[in-house]
Amino acid sequence: MAAKVDLSTSTDWKEAKAFLKSLSDKQREEHYFCRDFVKLKKIPTWKDMAKGATTKEEEPQYKKDKALNEKISLFRGDITKLEVDAIVNAANSSLLGGGGVDGCIHRAAGHLLTEECRTLHSCETGKAKITGGYRLPAKYVIHTVGPIAQGDPSPSQVQELRNCYVNSLQLALEHRLRSVAFPCISTGVFGYPNEAAAEVVLSTLREWLEEHKDKVDRLLICVFLEKDEEIYRKRLPHFFPVDPPAGLQSQL
Ligand code: ADP
Repeated sequence: MAAKVDLSTSTDWKEAKAFLKSLSDKQREEHYFCRDFVKLKKIPTWKDMAKGATTKEEEPQYKKDKALNEKISLFRGDITKLEVDAIVNAANSSLLGGGGVDGCIHRAAGHLLTEECRTLHSCETGKAKITGGYRLPAKYVIHTVGPIAQGDPSPSQVQELRNCYVNSLQLALEHRLRSVAFPCISTGVFGYPNEAAAEVVLSTLREWLEEHKDKVDRLLICVFLEKDEEIYRKRLPHFFPVDPPAGLQSQL
């Protein structure tokens, strides 16, 4: 086993990362920045959450797929508390931390995260880069830079937001990470309208899962604001239908 490292005083991110990698899941817990972390198995899937909920969607664009509904969750709360393989950071292009969710993630993970980020030399809009999670309950942080919209997004900004999700998921695949939590990228300081962002997120995650569902256990949409929770609760049944489309019920 690698030599024991104190994550709050160490200045060597490589050594700290190797140390954390050598630990079992249980052993990592004592290095978390918080005690009230949330285990993945405590978070209901969309299939469980939507049970009994009748969808108002008359003709959902996508087919009901039970397997996909078990792979997606809506969670409202602080993304830094999630014990998942990776959380995604809505970073700014410097990757050196900032306000909003970015600041929360850097504060929780500790200074070694910023040290590792420094070696990545920034990130372009729509691209993604990966680091360790350090004192976070999440093993990795995937940093992606969303478009700065401030109002109606242009077609290229829509594509950039989509790319944030797809490129983050591509990194997850490459690192064999099976649970990934996303914040509402770009919808804070970057000013992308919340409803429009949710449409991009849900269509991107649905289409990605159709292709790759066997490679992941769970994708989590981590909302922070009540407004976003309402938007996703309303729109999830359209992209991940839970009931047969009206009119087909009698045939099933
Ligand atoms: P951006 O610069 O990409 O707009 P922000 O951090 O300003 O990013 O906001 C993105 C979203 O993250 C917003 O919905 C905001 O409410 C949310 N957010 C802020 N802090 C947290 C947190 N600790 N966990 C999850 N989401 C958060």
